[in-house]
Amino acid sequence: MQIPYDIIIIGAGPIGIACALEAKKKNLNYLILEKGCLVNSLYNYPIHMQFFSSSELLELDQIPFTSTENRPKRNEALEYYRRIVQSRAVRVNLFEEVLTVSKIENSFNIQTTKSLYQAHHVIVATGFYDIPNLLNIPGEDLPKVNHYYKDPHYFARQKVVVVGGSNSSVDAALECYRKGASVSLVIRDQTIGSHVKYWVRPDIENRIAEGSIQVYYNSQLKEVTPTTVILETPEASVTIANDFVLALIGYRPNIEFLERIGIAFSDDNRKIPVYNPETMETNIEQLYLAGVVCGGLDTHEWFIENSRIHAVKIVEHISRNTL
Ligand SMILES: Cc1cc2nc3c(=O)[nH]c(=O)nc-3n(C[C@H](O)[C@H](O)[C@H](O)COP(=O)(O)OP(=O)(O)OC[C@H]3O[C@@H](n4cnc5c(N)ncnc54)[C@H](O)[C@@H]3O)c2cc1C
Repeated sequence: MQIPYDIIIIGAGPIGIACALEAKKKNLNYLILEKGCLVNSLYNYPIHMQFFSSSELLELDQIPFTSTENRPKRNEALEYYRRIVQSRAVRVNLFEEVLTVSKIENSFNIQTTKSLYQAHHVIVATGFYDIPNLLNIPGEDLPKVNHYYKDPHYFARQKVVVVGGSNSSVDAALECYRKGASVSLVIRDQTIGSHVKYWVRPDIENRIAEGSIQVYYNSQLKEVTPTTVILETPEASVTIANDFVLALIGYRPNIEFLERIGIAFSDDNRKIPVYNPETMETNIEQLYLAGVVCGGLDTHEWFIENSRIHAVKIVEHISRNTL
């Protein structure tokens, strides 16, 4: 067991890194523990993904983020955050998952897949990209059903059903169509989602209007078989030939992990964790939440843009209490 850290930060996403930069400024002894690679969620985004935020809104600690277009691409963001970690010598252990956090008197024991740490404060910045929402239908476990989408080349000349009407599904549908896939889009609502990037919306609407991408509005997938999918549409049950399904219907934070730590939640079904918005401290004293994990199942509430401020609030509160 090492000397207790002032702060252990769980998660090396943009906001975990922002917390580390603040801790460093205040000369606090901190360490980030990350279960995957650096900015693991961004690494797992679609390869050609473009942020809806302009680059200055993704900056940490006012370190300039230059990108070739106003809105950066995934690979530029990977480069930006990696360079920050390198140049600011941010302390981070990669590929080390935090399994449990338990409070004993005035400090925490943090058990990982590799070691046991002690800290006076813990910041949970675990994001929401690790757990996909499921369709919960027969055949969902077939290998042809994917809940993450990386690259369109794989789907060239294949019959692909994309489920969902928001940015991830619209981007995937357009990319696969342009690589020669035959794409059907299955949307639960009666239109494309309202959050779809405004510069992408005309593209998808025009491809649907001209019949290049087939769309089923007000429809849901009912079953997947090795060669077909069965849809429930307003008119009838429809069976279409199919090679791959991209079920891109959103992601959720690891609520069970937060519950295990002892974090309390709102009593509605949005599962919003309880925290003080001034300090980001949870119902457990000295344990804080930062970044998009704060939204619970409401994953359209927090972004990098508006959650960078959590790092400043938390570390100010910790350093006030530590002095
Ligand atoms: C496709 C997509 C596009 C987006 N575009 C934008 C955009 O344009 N602008 C914007 O502001 N936001 C955008 N967002 C939202 C936001 O960028 C991301 O959710 C962002 O990654 C949030 O940063 P974070 O640090 O809070 O969480 P994350 O980046 O998700 O970081 C959490 C980290 O915690 C790690 N972790 C989880 N559990 C553990 C554990 N038990 N032990 C150790 N490590 C753990 C994960 O591996 C991960 O690296 C987008 C989200 C998605 C999914």
